[in-house]
Amino acid sequence: MTQDEVLDALVAHLKDETGAVIREKRQASEMRALAQVFGAVHLGQPNLPSANDFMRRFTTTLGPVVYPSLELATSPMRHLVYVHEFAHVKQFWDAPITFPVLYLSDKEYRAGKEAQAIHSQLEVYHWLTGKIPEKLTDLPRGLAYGYAFSEVELLFAQRLLEVGMTMLVNGVYSTEVGIIAEKWLNTKHPELYHACSY
Ligand SMILES: [Zn+2]
Repeated sequence: MTQDEVLDALVAHLKDETGAVIREKRQASEMRALAQVFGAVHLGQPNLPSANDFMRRFTTTLGPVVYPSLELATSPMRHLVYVHEFAHVKQFWDAPITFPVLYLSDKEYRAGKEAQAIHSQLEVYHWLTGKIPEKLTDLPRGLAYGYAFSEVELLFAQRLLEVGMTMLVNGVYSTEVGIIAEKWLNTKHPELYHACSY
């Protein structure tokens, strides 16, 4: 098996374990409607993606359904993107009533959930490569573009991640999706531990 095939199998396992559904974005009428809303909002708020950007570049999750961006299929980072989105699906199933409401209405809650999803991504990345990205500040900052977070919310997300990374350097995986991935990889492909390039 190539590294890509192993990671595809990991994505399939995480999809099952988190109860996620993958739906093609272009086919989904709800996504086209949302893209139009983004287009309309974009006119007044340059910090949000345009309709075109939203369809092409943004992978989106609504409840248990992940809508991959049009660019995702060919992206070398696609496996880690799926880890992130499946973390959101897990968050949804943990609280199907309150998660969508709080995620949309409370920016601090949303920043916390984003930090957790990034944390899961980094746990998988760390298991595979043995590395932690040096500039953690850049990670939540990427979210500022898509989610219109304020400086305080970004710092909040960043500090949550710093706590997570302190555990990670000691080899402690602490998010549920990270732990599911760690168990699967340790059992199925221990030879890849800290041995992958990304
Ligand atoms: Zn996210």
